[in-house]
Amino acid sequence: MEFKVSELEREPIDFDLSLTPGEVDLGEEAEQVGGLAAAGRAEVLHEHRGPKDIVADIRLKGSFSGTFQVPCARCVEPVKLPLQADFDLIFRPAAADSEPTERSITAPETEIGYYLEDSLLLEDVLREQVLLALPVRTLCKPDCKGLCPRCGENRNSTACDCEVGPQDPRWEALAGLRNRVKS
Ligand SMILES: [Zn+2]
Ligand SMILES: [Zn+2]
Repeated sequence: MEFKVSELEREPIDFDLSLTPGEVDLGEEAEQVGGLAAAGRAEVLHEHRGPKDIVADIRLKGSFSGTFQVPCARCVEPVKLPLQADFDLIFRPAAADSEPTERSITAPETEIGYYLEDSLLLEDVLREQVLLALPVRTLCKPDCKGLCPRCGENRNSTACDCEVGPQDPRWEALAGLRNRVKS
């Protein structure tokens, strides 16, 4: 969904939609499971910087909710994560801040982004918001036993006979790599 400044200048646009997997490109970070619901309002805010210097910002306020799948940090098995978050964002035309300075509109609860070519894509905003909402590290269960450092078996499901010392943190990095190669 595209918000054009020229349309928002006439009136704010309310949105309430469900995006199917793939409409928001999450890259390799996560996979969307089922619909991604997004609702809120887009409107123009005018920054009066001087008598003839008015900047049209887009304010996007709303929320999203959906379920995402990410690999367990230890065993790489997919873990389903329900995520929900509110956002209240300001987007400035990319050309307006050739010299980035603090502006009066900067409120603590809002963040400043930029839009290009007079329009803003909801999908781009949602991608960033979903990635921000993802936990840094996800485990399938708090006591996930991870992969055997010797044979690579998932030790939650298979008891192997390897002699294993204390969990080597380097294995988790390898597990992440293995997942990337798989996908
Ligand atoms: Zn796990
Ligand atoms: Zn083993």
